[in-house]
Amino acid sequence: MEGFVRNRLKGAAIVGQRILIVDDKPDIRDSICEYMRIAGFEAESAASAEAALDRIRQAPFDVMIADIAMPGLGGLELTRLVKRDHCADVIVMTGYAQNYSYEDAINIGASDFVIKPVRYEELLLRVRRVLRERELTDERNRMLEKLQRLAITDGLTTLFNSRHFYTQLELEADRSIRYKHPLALLLIDIDRFKEFNDTFGHLEGDKVLMRFSQILKSCLRANDSAYRYGGEEFTVILPETAAEEARTVAQRIRAALEAEGFSPPPGQPVSKTISIGVTEYAPMEDMTTFIRRADEAMYVSKQNGRNRVSVLAPPVARISNSTV
Ligand code: GH3
Ligand code: MG
Ligand code: MG
Repeated sequence: MEGFVRNRLKGAAIVGQRILIVDDKPDIRDSICEYMRIAGFEAESAASAEAALDRIRQAPFDVMIADIAMPGLGGLELTRLVKRDHCADVIVMTGYAQNYSYEDAINIGASDFVIKPVRYEELLLRVRRVLRERELTDERNRMLEKLQRLAITDGLTTLFNSRHFYTQLELEADRSIRYKHPLALLLIDIDRFKEFNDTFGHLEGDKVLMRFSQILKSCLRANDSAYRYGGEEFTVILPETAAEEARTVAQRIRAALEAEGFSPPPGQPVSKTISIGVTEYAPMEDMTTFIRRADEAMYVSKQNGRNRVSVLAPPVARISNSTV
């Protein structure tokens, strides 16, 4: 029989997929286990739900095939615990179909339900279907994650985009109010960028945007986040940071870009500069007012000659709200 089965099943299982068979009847669990091994799976067996839980805690399994009626912990309770704490799929088996419904098993988290006596070929088909669905679910989750990441990322610079900026700024403003922590915002604009594009071409301009984004990231602390606000404008959210500390961060960014040489025509380094506006959040103000003040601070930098940092304090001091 073994040779026959092996020939029919050759190459059918993906190497390394692990199956745990749980049944109190040694002949059943051993024969299913053997069949699954011949089909190419890494199969193991356990004589009770308790032993299965011990084993699954030591090593992960892709699929568990569990009998429902066992002394001690039953297969449905085992399924519930496995689905709660592990990511294995579960196929339950029972010889007492009238006592346990398909709905009971599925509602508790089982992926499938088979009636004993089990035909090995059928069980194998069910295992394969469960594994295929599992792969599809994983693939769909990976795609979803990728799409979610793309939806908040700027394509050119790989910084976060402006949509994500608005979402995060609202979140940080809420946190700032709740925990009474300061919150600072930088608005950064590249100086005379049109001129650079006109002289060296748009592609060289793009390289500046990309390099500046890397420099920007390298200047930030773990909780700070940087965004491409639009065109050649960038924003940085600095949680738990007051305006004066934010000025220091801004100066670091400004100096780092100034020190960087770009060579659109080889051998002729050109430096680029930025103007930065810094401000701090005034509790309860709306986001438009907050952002506009950072923008005004940035324009002060432009008016005062560019390549500089200007700070505009919020109109009302943070503590005075509660004391006046
Ligand atoms: P200022 O110092 O006053 O900010 O001068 P500026 O030339 O930087 O400002 P202006 O607003 O006149 O021009 C911004 C330029 O930024 C014009 C536009 O072509 C360029 N720009 C915006 N987005 C991109 C982009 O994705 N790539 C490139 N290469 N250039 C861009
Ligand atoms: Mg601009
Ligand atoms: Mg500009």
